Amino acid sequence: MMKDIATPSRTREIVEQFDLKAKKSLGQNFMTDVNILHKFVDATGMTAEDGVIEVGPGIGALTEQLAKRAKKVIAYEIDQRLLPVLDETLKQYDNVEIRHEDFLKANLDHVFSEDFQSVEHVYAAGNLPYYVTTPILMRFLEERLPIKTLTVLIQKEVGDRLAAKPSTKAYGSLSIATQYYAETEVISHVPANVFVPKPNVESSIIRFTIRSEKAVQVKNEDAFFKLIRASFAQRRKTLRNNLQSWSGNKEAVAQVFDLSGIDGGRRAESLSIEEFAKLADAWEIART
Ligand code: SAM
Repeated sequence: MMKDIATPSRTREIVEQFDLKAKKSLGQNFMTDVNILHKFVDATGMTAEDGVIEVGPGIGALTEQLAKRAKKVIAYEIDQRLLPVLDETLKQYDNVEIRHEDFLKANLDHVFSEDFQSVEHVYAAGNLPYYVTTPILMRFLEERLPIKTLTVLIQKEVGDRLAAKPSTKAYGSLSIATQYYAETEVISHVPANVFVPKPNVESSIIRFTIRSEKAVQVKNEDAFFKLIRASFAQRRKTLRNNLQSWSGNKEAVAQVFDLSGIDGGRRAESLSIEEFAKLADAWEIART
């Protein structure tokens, strides 16, 4: 039997056979530890009746493990050079479909309505390229794609920010943006030396369990996110100062604190998502 792709020796063989030079500009760091991938696949919660979308299959390390677990895998790879590689490395898996597309531009309309018709639930996964981690995550979350969980390998520092709780250094507008759509958990840390080439940073496996209802209900979603970003503009400043610089409207800002019952002397990092929702709804009244 063939060795798993996610082993140092098989990865080396594939890289040599195809004379592959990893492209840094595309965030190419190939995973070579199959035990970590087993943990990753377990974390997704998928069964043999489910389907999975993968972003960035590379030479197929994670794709292979997903194919062993799921009924169907659809994987988006932007780098044309990897297509013949994947043809070869994944030839024994007839439940994998590779699409040569930029995931951020791919039309996903048919994917859920037709391509995954035969599966029970759809999941999403990827060892994400560093340069587009946030846009990829936000595409899944903001477009409310009908997936159960989104499990990703990303830079540890970004993962810590995404999963951060109030009153911690890592907590910020990105933590709230993702937690609005999903419950976010750090599953495990992953050392840099299991990737080829070795990146300069550590990684983490992060799982987003998509909420059936958003974490809070707000009157104006767009204004809610703008107000959060403005509140964190200068972390050391008070909410009052940040909102005044942003809006230029001292009276409306004073009214926001009166209406919401939130103390304007606090800093953004101490507010829960529920408190930001109160603040944003008060802003909708105060600004008119
Ligand atoms: N899944 C493989 C693994 O775990 O070894 C490779 C992961 S590597 C970190 C990221 C992969 O994403 C690369 O193969 C890269 O070419 C691909 N990629 C980069 N940007 C992409 C995009 N916008 N859409 C689809 N794939 C992309």
